[in-house]
Amino acid sequence: MKIAINGAGIAGPALAYWLLEHGHEPVLIERAPAPRSGGYVIDFWGSGYDIAEKMGILPQLHQLGYNVGEVRFVDARGRKAGGFATEVFSRMTKGRFTSLQRSDLAATIYASIEGKVETLFGDGIASIEESPDHVRIGFEHAPPRDFDLVVGADGLHSRVRSLVFGEEAKFERFLGYNVAAFELTGYRPRDELAYVSHALAGRQVSRFSKRDDRTLFMLCWREREPAPIPGDDAGRRAALRREFAGMGWEVPAILAAMESVEDIYFDRVSQIEMPRWSKGRAALVGDAVACVSLLAGEGSGLAMAEAYVLAGEIARAGSDHAAALSRYEERMKPFLAAKQESARKFASSFVPETAFGVVFRNWMMRLMNIPPVADFFVGELSDDIDMPDYEAA
Ligand SMILES: Cc1cc2nc3c(=O)[nH]c(=O)nc-3n(C[C@H](O)[C@H](O)[C@H](O)COP(=O)(O)OP(=O)(O)OC[C@H]3O[C@@H](n4cnc5c(N)ncnc54)[C@H](O)[C@@H]3O)c2cc1C
Repeated sequence: MKIAINGAGIAGPALAYWLLEHGHEPVLIERAPAPRSGGYVIDFWGSGYDIAEKMGILPQLHQLGYNVGEVRFVDARGRKAGGFATEVFSRMTKGRFTSLQRSDLAATIYASIEGKVETLFGDGIASIEESPDHVRIGFEHAPPRDFDLVVGADGLHSRVRSLVFGEEAKFERFLGYNVAAFELTGYRPRDELAYVSHALAGRQVSRFSKRDDRTLFMLCWREREPAPIPGDDAGRRAALRREFAGMGWEVPAILAAMESVEDIYFDRVSQIEMPRWSKGRAALVGDAVACVSLLAGEGSGLAMAEAYVLAGEIARAGSDHAAALSRYEERMKPFLAAKQESARKFASSFVPETAFGVVFRNWMMRLMNIPPVADFFVGELSDDIDMPDYEAA
C-alpha cells in the first residue's frame, strides 16, 4: 500500500521503517525544512527500547546517549537540598535505559530509512478527501496525490487529527503545567551527567550539561487554564521573564542569557485522548493519538511501539485496512490509557504547588538514595505489554 505519513519526528520515521520492512510504500511529509538537531533530552527505555533493539539501532543510541548519574535539587543559593543517584533506573530496567536528545533519536531512526523512503521536507498535509478506494491528499506546497492510507504522526498539535476528527480542544487534557526548553553554548557552571533543578512553589528551572559545551535548560511552571502558546521567540522570552522573575539560584543569569536564544520550545503539558484511533483510511500514531506527556518519561518509546504495531497489523491484515486499524487500536489503546493515568498521578508532585511541598519533595528525594526505598518508589520499570512478532506474520 502507498501510505502518507505526516510528521517525521519519532513515530513517523519508525512507522516508515516498519512499513518498508513489510513491503509497503510509505511517504513521509515533514513541516520542518530538514531534520532538527539539539533540543531537550529524553529518557529512553521500555517497549520503545525493545523496538529499537529489533531495528538494530541500540548501539548508535547508546553512543549518543548520556549515562546521567544524578538528579540534584538545589536551593536559592545553589546548595544541595535533595536529590538521588539515578542508578535506580538502570537497575530497575536491567541496564536497558539511556538518556539522549530527542532529536538524536529521531535522526537515528530517520537514518535507517534515508534514501529508501520518499520524504517531503518543508511541506505538510493540508487536506484529506476520502473515496471508497483511496484517499486524496492535498499538500501545502506539492501537488495533490492519491494514497491507500494516511497516518498522522504529527505530534501533540496534529494537523491530520484536526482535519479528520475536529478541533484539538475536544481531545486535549491539560495537566496544569507549561514547559519551555532551550539550549545555550558556553554556559557556566557545568555539572557533567547531573540534572540540576531549582524550584519555588509552582516553578522549576533545570539544567543539563550536554556535549560540545552546550547546556539544556528546561523551565516548567503551573498554569490554571490552558493558555495559547506565544507564536514567536520574542513572545516566549517575555512570558518566561514574567513567569520566572524573582527566582534565586542561577535563574537571573539564565534568563539574561536566554535573550540571545532563537529557538525556544514552549508548549502546554497535555495529553491527547481519542475515542477512536482511526476513521476510514486515516489513522493516528504517537503523540497525535495518545500523547502521554513529558510526565510519563516514555512518550518517544511508546510512539515507536505504536508505530511497530500499526505497521505489523497492516501487514497481517493484507488489504483489509479497516481490520488492521481496529486491531492496532484494540492492542494499544488500553496500554496507553494506563500510561496516561500513571503520568497524571505524578502530575501533582512534579513541581510542588507550595513552598512546603518543594521542601518536602526535596527531602523525600533524599530517601531515594537508599536502594530498597528507591526500588520501591520507582518499581519494576517494564512495560506490561507483549509486542507481537510480526516478522512471522
Ligand atoms: C520537555 C519534554 C520532555 C520529554 N521527555 C521525555 C522523556 O524523558 N522520554 C520520552 O520517551 N519522551 C519524552 N517526551 C515526549 C516525547 O518527546 C514525545 O512523546 C515524542 O516526541 C512523540 O513523538 P511523535 O513522533 O509522536 O511526535 P513529535 O516528536 O512531536 O514529532 C512530530 C513531527 O511532526 C512534525 N509536524 C508537526 N505538525 C506538522 C504538520 N502540520 N505538517 C507536517 N509535519 C508536522 C513536527 O515537525 C515533528 O517532526 C518529552 C516531551 C517534552 C516536551
